[in-house]
Parts: sequence; structure tokens; C-alpha cells
Amino acid sequence: MDLTFSPAAEDLRAELRAWLSVNVPREFASGDAVEFPSLDEEFAFLRAWQGRLARDRWVGVHWPHAYGGRGAGAEANYIFQEEMARARAPEVINRIGVNLVGPSLMHHGSEEQKQRYLARILSCADVWCQLFSEPGAGSDLTALRTLAVRDGDVYRVTGQKVWTSWAQYADYGILIARTDPAATKARGISYMIVDMRAPGVEVRPLRQMTGSSEFNEVFLDDVRVPVANLVGEEGKGWEIAQTTLAHERGTAPRQLVIHRMLLEDLTRLARESSDASLRESVAAAAIEVEIAKLDNWRTLTRLVRGEPLGPESSFIKLYWSEMSQRLHDTVMRALGPRAALVGSDAPANGRLADSYLYYRAASIFAGTSEVQRNIIAQRVLGLPR
Ligand SMILES: Cc1cc2nc3c(=O)[nH]c(=O)nc-3n(C[C@H](O)[C@H](O)[C@H](O)COP(=O)(O)OP(=O)(O)OC[C@H]3O[C@@H](n4cnc5c(N)ncnc54)[C@H](O)[C@@H]3O)c2cc1C
Repeated sequence: MDLTFSPAAEDLRAELRAWLSVNVPREFASGDAVEFPSLDEEFAFLRAWQGRLARDRWVGVHWPHAYGGRGAGAEANYIFQEEMARARAPEVINRIGVNLVGPSLMHHGSEEQKQRYLARILSCADVWCQLFSEPGAGSDLTALRTLAVRDGDVYRVTGQKVWTSWAQYADYGILIARTDPAATKARGISYMIVDMRAPGVEVRPLRQMTGSSEFNEVFLDDVRVPVANLVGEEGKGWEIAQTTLAHERGTAPRQLVIHRMLLEDLTRLARESSDASLRESVAAAAIEVEIAKLDNWRTLTRLVRGEPLGPESSFIKLYWSEMSQRLHDTVMRALGPRAALVGSDAPANGRLADSYLYYRAASIFAGTSEVQRNIIAQRVLGLPR
């Protein structure tokens, strides 16, 4: 295996690093938690930040030129995420749009849909959400019950979605709904674009244990979705949803860097601590982060060679999410009672405790650990169901 990045990728890294050193707001670069007076203000800030990145063509570096990207491929996308995390830059807020909607529309959308929606995703002119999970359909999405009934040139959509990240700010959502109620499971599901401002769409934020409300319940009550918003063919939505879901896994360079920096925090805390038993956990954490890097590189190599990732991408998701929780547990142990402090009294202004709470969700989103283990057991190892 070649463990170096190409010269073109290294040039891109140098250019981006220079850009970030000038443009990342100072309060983020310090590594302390940045408090906003409200989620609305945080979102407005992040939207403007993505606009700034996009103006200099940093968003979607791997997207084709035709849709506003740099056409620089998987390696460039890897480096982009790595450098953003390394500089502690605020995240690209429209990542559902960039990472999931974009690739899905490029593969399956009509030319008109591509022209209308794609470029606006990069600049964050339109924010997107993913309307897949339902109260009775999470791990098993094929159990979804939201109905879309054809009525002339519209579908009338009724149902409920849940855990919809950033729905309260979204302009559009990618929705999967049942267009053939007689068909069961994956059959009879269609994939469509919903205008989140359409009459009948009601978004109710859910409060998370971090105190924030990034995700929501979305109620759809006789929402009229133009037939022109159907992506692909009616009843073939499950195949398109697979494209979307495949892009949720794969490499996780951003997570790799975040956890490398967390390991640095942990090492610093362990040095200051009188608890010698922490040493073993710090060494174990260092080894795990190194393994995560090698896993990422192996997957990236496959992407660069144009090989499909397939079910092996479940390894990456399973490994980093569980590594994250072990590493955060050790950080909490090293902090001891100080972990419970809030505000400016807290170490790193509360960033470490916030991070601990946030990453509890890592073994749930983008497919739970149990589901990843099922995939690995059945599709990689060939074990019986
Ligand atoms: C932070 C966060 C953001 C999210 N954002 C979005 C979003 O924007 N859009 C969206 O559509 N969804 C989103 N989700 C939802 C996410 O995809 C689901 O939570 C996830 O798929 C699990 O579904 P569920 O919560 O319904 O749990 P369930 O599927 O009900 O699972 C409950 C438990 O049963 C286990 N289980 C289920 N099936 C099996 C099985 N076959 N074998 C073994 N164990 C099993 C699970 O592992 C889990 O422990 C988000 C979730 C989180 C945490």
C-alpha cells in the first residue's frame, strides 16, 4: 500500500491550510467551546461561514466542475475534512446537502433537478434535511408508513418523520414515502424532494441532552409535492435511498482528527493527574486512534482506485463510534469531578463534557452499532442470519 498522498493533494492541503489560518475565527481556533446566545444565531453564523468557504471553492472539492465543485476527487475531500478539523474550523452546516443529497441527485436526479438544486447546496443558499427515519422505522427503514398518494400532478403526503437534523432551518428535504400502500417492505417506496415551507409541513424541535435542539420531529399533513419533485421512478425510491445511505458511512477523516485532538487533551490531563491507572487507558486510546487512521487510509485507497466500498464501510463506522465512546469515557475519568462544571469554570469552557454527551449519539446515527455488526456478520463474514 502506498501511504503517501499525491503531490496534487498535498498542494491542495497547503493552499487550504493557508486559507484556514487566515479565515478561521480566532475564538474557534483556540479550542474552547464557543457559546452562541441561541441556536438561531449559531445557525446564521454557520450558514455565513459555509458561504465564505464556498466563495473560495472549498465546499464540495470532490464534486464535478459541472456542479460547482473542483472535480478533485476522494483524496481531496479527505484532505479538506482533515484540515478543517485540524484548524478547529466550524463545520460545513449543510453537510446533509453536500454529502448525501448532492451525490444522490447526481446519480438519480433529472437534469432539471441537478441544475436547479446542486450549486445552491454548496453556497448554502438552500439548506437540506433528510426525512427518512420515522417513529416506527429507524434501523428498519422499510417499515416506513408515510404515504404519498398521487393526485393529478402532485403527490399528497401524510405522515411523521423524526430525528430530522436541522429541519427547522431547512429549505428542502429528501423524503422517502410509500406510494404503493399494497406493496410491502422495500417495494412501493418513492424518493422525492419536499419544500419545507410548503403548507402542511410542521417542524417541532427536540431537546437533546447536550441542551441543544439540532434535531426535530416533522409532521406532514396533506403536503402537496409536485410530481416534478420525484427523484427517479415512482416505486424505485429504495434503490436511491441506498445511494444516500452509502454516503453516510465510508471514510471519516473529520472524526479521525477530532479524536486525535481529543487524545492530545487526554494526554495533557493524564500528565496533570495523580491517578497512575490512567496511563494504560491513554496508551490504549493512542493505539485505537492509530488503528482508526489505518482503517481510514485503507478505505480511502479503495475510493481513490475507484473500487466500491460496499459493506466493509460498516467497519469504519462501527470502529470509530465505539472508539470515540471509550476515549470520551477516559477523558471524563481524567477530569473527575471537574467534568460536571459548566461555563467558564469548566475545563476548555465545557467543550470536553459537551463532546462526551454529543458522542453518545455516534453509535446510533448513520446506522446503530448492532446494525453495523449484522451487516459485517452477514455480508462480510457470510454468517447465517
Ligand atoms: C444525532 C442524530 C441525528 C440524526 N439525524 C437524522 C436525520 O437527519 N434524518 C433521519 O432520517 N434520521 C436521523 N437520525 C436517526 C437515525 O438514523 C436513527 O436513530 C437510527 O437509524 C436508529 O433508528 P431508531 O432510533 O429508530 O432505533 P431503532 O431502530 O428502534 O433501534 C432501537 C435499538 O434496537 C436495535 N436494533 C434494531 N434493529 C436491530 C436488529 N435487526 N438487530 C439487532 N439490533 C437491532 C438498535 O441497534 C437499537 O439499539 C439521527 C439520529 C441521531 C442520533
